[in-house]
Amino acid sequence: MGFMRLSIFSLIAAAIVCVAANAGEPTTAAGMQLAWFQSRTIFHSGLRGTHTIALTFDDGPNAYTGAVLDALKANNVKATFFIVGKMAKAHPEMLARIAAEGHLLGNHSATHPELTSKFDDDPNLLIQQLREVNNEIAPLMKQSDVLFFRAPYGYWRSAHAAILNADPILRNYTGPVYWDIGGDMILHDGYVMSSADWSCWKHKLSAHVCAKGYLREIRRNDGGVVLMHCIHKESGDLVAEVVPPLLQEGYKFIRLDQDPEYKQYETPTTTPAVAAAAPLQSAPIVFAQALK
Ligand SMILES: [Zn+2]
Repeated sequence: MGFMRLSIFSLIAAAIVCVAANAGEPTTAAGMQLAWFQSRTIFHSGLRGTHTIALTFDDGPNAYTGAVLDALKANNVKATFFIVGKMAKAHPEMLARIAAEGHLLGNHSATHPELTSKFDDDPNLLIQQLREVNNEIAPLMKQSDVLFFRAPYGYWRSAHAAILNADPILRNYTGPVYWDIGGDMILHDGYVMSSADWSCWKHKLSAHVCAKGYLREIRRNDGGVVLMHCIHKESGDLVAEVVPPLLQEGYKFIRLDQDPEYKQYETPTTTPAVAAAAPLQSAPIVFAQALK
């Protein structure tokens, strides 16, 4: 009986997912989704298990972003920066420096709102959120650079994709892209098993301790897209702690437009476009002064 109910539920759930995946999206005859904005967040980076890392820095730039750029330069590593429009407006010289030093600029919305149903009701609000940032970053990017979007808080609705794909500029974006590493602070037995930088700083952990969580999660996964932020006074120190040991261990660092997995979202393809979301891990956080 229990099995039966589960099966029927699964069938219904699968049907709902199919409908959602195709709503308002360009599709092939076989019903596969083409490129452009995806109706569901792109969770799968393909970098786990490849000894390859894509560092991504969200929410900047601000004055602290300079220290992040210094640390990246010192290690000859290129990364991706998801720009918030109002931050770029206040720090245009820092935005220009990010691009000039060979990093990839990405779009993270103009004011970092949670993209709720309010934005489906007024599509122009959504288009403005992305257009404003595009107008700031596109002139600094090379023709060959790929445009990526990451949704604030990772929050996304399928209706957004149809709205943005109807815009002649924004339809050129790949996204929304998520991350593999850096989303959660996980402590176990006094060890920092995973870190989220903003949570580290909120709980007054040092960059050295915070870095241990990033390093452990990266090593467990053997690579991935790493979420960090470039707007805190500790941000540069964190990069300086995390990158050198990984270089020593032979990890390769790439920008998001060098990730082969994302290529399928840039051009029409017959490959199924959306991978299942990995369940988010979390654990009760108990903070001790001396974390290992
Ligand atoms: Zn953000």
